[in-house]
Amino acid sequence: MVKITAAVAVKPKAPLEFRDLELADPEGNEILVRTVATGICHTDLLLRDGIFGPPAPVIPGHEGVGIVEAVGPDVQGLKIGDAVALSQSSCGFCADCRRSHPMNCQNYTQYNLTGLRPNGKKAIVCDDVGSNFVGQSSFATHILATENNAALLPSEGFDLTDAAPLGCGMATGAGTVINAMKPEIGSTIVIFGAGAVGIAAIMAAKVRRCSKIIIVDLNLQRLEMAKELGATHAINGKEADIVEQIHALTGGGADFAVEAVGIIPVILNSIKCTRPGGHVVLLGLDALGKDIPIPLDLMVFNRKIQGAILGDQIPQLFIPQMVQLNQAGLFPFQKLITKYPFEKINEAIADAEAGSVIKPVIVFN
Ligand SMILES: [Zn+2]
Ligand SMILES: [Zn+2]
Repeated sequence: MVKITAAVAVKPKAPLEFRDLELADPEGNEILVRTVATGICHTDLLLRDGIFGPPAPVIPGHEGVGIVEAVGPDVQGLKIGDAVALSQSSCGFCADCRRSHPMNCQNYTQYNLTGLRPNGKKAIVCDDVGSNFVGQSSFATHILATENNAALLPSEGFDLTDAAPLGCGMATGAGTVINAMKPEIGSTIVIFGAGAVGIAAIMAAKVRRCSKIIIVDLNLQRLEMAKELGATHAINGKEADIVEQIHALTGGGADFAVEAVGIIPVILNSIKCTRPGGHVVLLGLDALGKDIPIPLDLMVFNRKIQGAILGDQIPQLFIPQMVQLNQAGLFPFQKLITKYPFEKINEAIADAEAGSVIKPVIVFN
């Protein structure tokens, strides 16, 4: 058992509460990770607000990075002292894990959303506080994860506090382009939403040598940043003729569209701006539970609409790939990060909600 300090979600919209707690020792394929950094993602706020995941009190956080401090007896691929980035967990043995799509794991809920460890036991042994959110609960000084959701990071020459967004935000945006869309060289692509996910998609579209990379957002500063990081064209989302502008720029509609906003009018625009045969991936989750009225006239012409969770990645393969692209200067995601000490996590959340930072990262001493 290890003593930890965690920032706990206690009620919707309220600041997180710092609590001193006790975390269980690793069993089976579990690993104990000393947290070095964690990103803050929109989904953590959906958890805080009771919209998604286990009930409060619960420890949010699902972009954890740290050093392995102890391993369970069944851990095979990691050892004490390894640096790891944590992502969504999976069982490793269901049909979807066997099909190399662990983000679709059929045991997804058990491994990510019950508030308990995958073995059904409590991680926080001293109190009634939920944990293991997205296989981790990284808003704490230590994390009990499993070997299945940990990807090895370089042990030197790489700042671990930079790596936090790789596990979710960067994997979602870049993985959508690189793993789910696979655009041919010279393709045209539109990205709706210049948040962390949208800008990761832009950088990946540049890696895949798309010829036109069009960003649509309401925030002028973010449009500028998107252009700095690879967008070839920027459109203010307030404009009335977004779809017409995209058709004009692409000569009849974009080959690909990524929707990273999640509201229905934007989802419809993301479909309408593609050419016949175009490919749309819907990432924004704010319309969860609602119906989307997609005109059949559009679908007739071979358009393809897809969801993609966590970039349809295999964390142990894709996270190191993103690190390599970063080290080659092709995926400079550090430009999206603003760092805060753990004590200032509520300030970081407030800044994220106000839209004044793109990707807050909490650093632990
Ligand atoms: Zn996330
Ligand atoms: Zn599985």
